[in-house]
Amino acid sequence: MERAELFDAGSKGRGLRAAKELNTGEVIFSEPSFAAVVFDSLATQVCHSCFRHQANLHRCAQCKFAHYCDRTCQTACWNEHKQECGAIKKLGSAPSENIRLAARVLWRMHKDTGIASDSQLISVDQLQEHVADLAAEDFKQLRADVHKFLQYWSYGTRQHSVDYISHIFGIIKCNGFTLSDQRGLQAVGVGLFPNLCLVNHDCWPNCTVILNHGNQSAVSSALHSQRRIELRALGKIPEGEELTVSYVDFLNLSADRQKKLKERFHFDCTCEHCSKHIKDDLMTAVADSKPSADKVKEVTAFSKESLEKIEKSRVERDYNEVLKLCYECLQKQENVLADTNLYKLRVLSIASEVLSYQRSFAKAANYAHRMVEGYRKLYHPNNAQLGMAIMRAGVTHWHAGQIEEGHSLICQAYRILMVTHGPNHAITKDLEGMRTQTEMELKMFKQNKAAYQTMRDALTLLLLVEIQSSPKNPKPVAELTVATSFFLLVSVV
Ligand SMILES: [Zn+2]
Ligand SMILES: [Zn+2]
Ligand SMILES: [Zn+2]
Ligand SMILES: [Zn+2]
Repeated sequence: MERAELFDAGSKGRGLRAAKELNTGEVIFSEPSFAAVVFDSLATQVCHSCFRHQANLHRCAQCKFAHYCDRTCQTACWNEHKQECGAIKKLGSAPSENIRLAARVLWRMHKDTGIASDSQLISVDQLQEHVADLAAEDFKQLRADVHKFLQYWSYGTRQHSVDYISHIFGIIKCNGFTLSDQRGLQAVGVGLFPNLCLVNHDCWPNCTVILNHGNQSAVSSALHSQRRIELRALGKIPEGEELTVSYVDFLNLSADRQKKLKERFHFDCTCEHCSKHIKDDLMTAVADSKPSADKVKEVTAFSKESLEKIEKSRVERDYNEVLKLCYECLQKQENVLADTNLYKLRVLSIASEVLSYQRSFAKAANYAHRMVEGYRKLYHPNNAQLGMAIMRAGVTHWHAGQIEEGHSLICQAYRILMVTHGPNHAITKDLEGMRTQTEMELKMFKQNKAAYQTMRDALTLLLLVEIQSSPKNPKPVAELTVATSFFLLVSVV
């Protein structure tokens, strides 16, 4: 920890600040999880060691619950799994993710105390929790979990009081960090990272946190690296400045962000963007044609209602209905809401996702284009969400045969992800492959447009065959083809 240090952040409590000047994209610290578990719903699809989403995982022969890529992953994680394995076997089935995580935390604390390494700045059981502030219903749920925990844990060596276990559950509730799969497309688990918990929130932060899945495929075990989070600087940070990350998506009105933060993390956000309502005006902006206040009110109410219906149809996978609702809503919004209005951006985002999924790339590109233009005016230029949105828009344009814009967007996304994810992340490597590929295609296009079009058509045909044969089987980065980049599109729906 030479780049960050603990300090008293006033009303926010403990905080971390820069111990020296930091550069854009610099890794301030990286940290393995103190404990982490895969979500119940994905227990057979995600490796319990490296958290990669993978087909054909091997099952632990003992508990028949844990799944791994291979022997390397299983061996790497045996220390974490050993006691859990025995407990699951005796209980007959695995308890839910919260209970499994609490148990992993306590087993680890018994083995290593609450501080697992020299660089860990705070003991796990000293992290903040808000059990005392829980609503009656939530508190009842927590106590039910504690009860189940005690049945599971009773096979362990030591007993704890109900209050102490509640304290651990409270810590997980407030500090649990959601882990995504290797391409950042799906939330697959939850873990506890003690140093990261010391980084306070700001809606317009100077850092971002990203999960790196590490490398366990290297032949020499000396080159293996563990999964870990990285705290990365979004811009230059002067020595002494507080380090912050955002716990919520910036694309919400300041009052809505504050509400979410209060509900989930029990604090009132007083960051500059919230107290000055910065960009709220853009997020609620109306069209240049200056529609009447009544009209704006009517369309806003209509949009709210439509988005609820859209979400419902999306969950039911009725994509034709989703598109019908999107078109209807966009038509109503035309000449009433501005292009940075949140209601418009949400509809544009869903429409472009679903259209890509249905392979209507030209239409999808049009919506993605408008969405990205809006995002650029709202997000910090190095926001990871913005980078991912630009990447998706780039791939969509590329598949629509709009190679010039496709290549340009992919290059922009690459620049952002070099800061937010770094050069070794799986997504950045995918992007690098796509950048090379589109650069080549762009050259072809400029030399001979007709020949380029013929090649594109042939590729599209090939693509359809590949997709139909294996829709959910991502290929390793080395085999990156058009089909893999397409996978990036289809799996977000
Ligand atoms: Zn694995
Ligand atoms: Zn096992
Ligand atoms: Zn805020
Ligand atoms: Zn475009």
